[in-house]
Amino acid sequence: MIIIMEPGATPEQTAAVITEIENLGFTSHPIYGEHLTVVAVVGKHPGALREHFESLDGVSRVQLIDQSYKLVARAGREGSAFDVGGVTVGGGELVVIAGPCSVESEEQLMACARAAKAGGARLLRGGAFKPRTSPYSFMGLGERALELLAQAREETGLPVVSEVMDPRRVELLAQYVDMLQIGARNMQNFVLLAEVGQTGLPVMLKRGLAASIDDFLNAAEYIASQGNDRVLMCERGIRTFETTTRNTLDINAVPVLKRLTHLPVAVDPSHAAGERDYVAPLSWAAAAVGADVIMVEIHPTPSTALSDGGQSLDFASFAKLMDGLRGVPRYSYRSARAVEAE
Ligand code: PEP
Ligand code: MN
Repeated sequence: MIIIMEPGATPEQTAAVITEIENLGFTSHPIYGEHLTVVAVVGKHPGALREHFESLDGVSRVQLIDQSYKLVARAGREGSAFDVGGVTVGGGELVVIAGPCSVESEEQLMACARAAKAGGARLLRGGAFKPRTSPYSFMGLGERALELLAQAREETGLPVVSEVMDPRRVELLAQYVDMLQIGARNMQNFVLLAEVGQTGLPVMLKRGLAASIDDFLNAAEYIASQGNDRVLMCERGIRTFETTTRNTLDINAVPVLKRLTHLPVAVDPSHAAGERDYVAPLSWAAAAVGADVIMVEIHPTPSTALSDGGQSLDFASFAKLMDGLRGVPRYSYRSARAVEAE
């Protein structure tokens, strides 16, 4: 259940509503927007007390939520924005994350970091612990890769994001990165989701290969339920009957997520297509449809990459992509009200 305060509600009125929620045995999660304060109420059947809550001073209306996710639900809220190592995600400006699939060496990562920075990317990605389909494939450099990412951040100033696959390594990753990544294969690893939720670090949550939007939002709710709703929802392609491309980019997911959640939305065209020739057109589509973030894989010599070379852009193609993206008009999800009116 969501309690929407009146636009002119005073902080005291909101505080009184929160006290009443807690006194009745529920948990409150207030969200203080620029124009509106809303309070999510979590617990067993708060809807039975709807009229009571509606009668409290400063309350505009009470919205019952029939979805199983509440904290990440749009529920009349503005889109949320948060800081990732000094970069605002979800604030209206398109943020590009670039970097290699895997960190392979100091030379390779530093070259990628410099190319990412020169092209205008705002964050650097790089896999340290890699989820690979075959147990015999390259698994990443582990902690050494995290040290190299920290070194690249030091030199370029770009905040870094890297995937955590194991709940036992969350603390280690949290020492090095500005945003934790949960990979597609771990989207429903609920122990891992709860663990990253407790770090308080922003999390990029990638959509599972066969996850519905509802599954995806419930996974985000696991993280938010730990008190951390700085979650970036990343559409990275889903498995369909189509085999021409590695996955099928569900471009619908962007407007659908914008309607259903206040969280910012990313698109990863590299893993969606699995082929570098499709990365630029899909990036343009992502920008046009109003994604907040685009993440692409780059490599100094893609043909020698230890993972995902076929979908990685060389630096010249990346620079060209970034130039092109600057001219793409972007659909804007101005506010929940605007989305609802459309
Ligand atoms: C990645 O981004 O490095 C990755 C492995 O992606 P996904 O989890 O989407 O396959
Ligand atoms: Mn990859």
